[in-house]
Amino acid sequence: MAWAIIVHGGAHPVADDKIDASDRACGAAADAGAAILEKGGSALDAVEAAIRVLEDDPVFNAGYGSALNADGEVENDAAIMEGEKLAAGAVASIRGVRHPISAARKVMETEHVLLSGEGARRFAEQSGVELCDPTELIDEEQRREWEASKKTRGSDTVGAVAMDSRGVFAAGTSTGGLMHKRPGRIGDSPLVGLGLYADNSAGAVSMTGDGEMIMRMALAHRITNSMCNGIDADRASEEAIAAMERRVGGEAGCIAIDRHGQLGQAHNTSHMPTGWRTSEMASAAASVKKEH
Ligand code: ASP
Repeated sequence: MAWAIIVHGGAHPVADDKIDASDRACGAAADAGAAILEKGGSALDAVEAAIRVLEDDPVFNAGYGSALNADGEVENDAAIMEGEKLAAGAVASIRGVRHPISAARKVMETEHVLLSGEGARRFAEQSGVELCDPTELIDEEQRREWEASKKTRGSDTVGAVAMDSRGVFAAGTSTGGLMHKRPGRIGDSPLVGLGLYADNSAGAVSMTGDGEMIMRMALAHRITNSMCNGIDADRASEEAIAAMERRVGGEAGCIAIDRHGQLGQAHNTSHMPTGWRTSEMASAAASVKKEH
C-alpha cells in the first residue's frame, strides 16, 4: 500500500546562502519520516520523527534556534494530530523543552488536547520528555536578528504531514512563533483546525505564516473541508491561501496530502522550503519554493 510524507520549513524569504541548508534539512526530515513509513510504521510516528529533525536544526524556527519573544526568551507552540480517531495533542508557550512536538504527542495520550505555559512544562517533565535550560534553545544568529530589528515577524516554523500504508493520516506543526511577540502570545500552530488538521476521510494539512490571519480564516479546517469535498490537496491549498489574502491579507503557506495520497502545497511568500517522499521514490526531494 502507498505511503507519503511532506514537510515544510516555514513560509518566508530564504536567502541564497541558506538554500542548501534548507534543502538538506527538509530532505533529511522527509527521509527520517519515510524510514518509518517504509517499514509499515505509523503516520504519527513519521510526523513526530520528521519534526524532531527540523526542531534540532537552527535553520528553522522550532526547538533549538527558535525565534525570541519581546523579552528575548524562547516560548514554543507545537501540535500533532492523527486522522483515524481524530486524536490531538498540543503545547503552547512552553519553555525549556528540547522537542516540543514530543511533548504535544504526550498530551495526545491524556484526556486533554492543549496544555500551556508552566503546566505544560511540568507535564512534559512528568512524561519523561527531554527538558533543557530555556536559554539552551537560543541560537546566536537568532539573538543577533532579534537585536537588529524590533519588528514582530514570523519565520521558519516547521511542519509535517504523512499518510501511512494503512491509509491513516497525521499532521504536526512546531514553532517558536513570531520574533518579538508579546510573552504569552499563542499562534495558530498548536491550535487544531487552524494550524493543522488530520482526518482520514479528507487528508491532512500543516500551516505556517501569519498566525493571526491563519486563525481568523480557520485555514487548516478550510483546506481539510475542501479535500473532504473531493478537491485535490494542491487546489485546496492554493484556494485557501488566496482566500486568506483576499479576506484578511497576510502571508502564509501550507502542505497537504489528500485522501488519494496526492501531495499539495501553496505559499504567497517568495519561498517555503519543503521536502517530500512517497513510496514510489528512493530518496527525498526538496525545494525552497513551489515549482508551478
Ligand atoms: N504561524 C506561526 C505563528 O504565527 C509563525 C510561522 O509560521 O512562521 O506563530
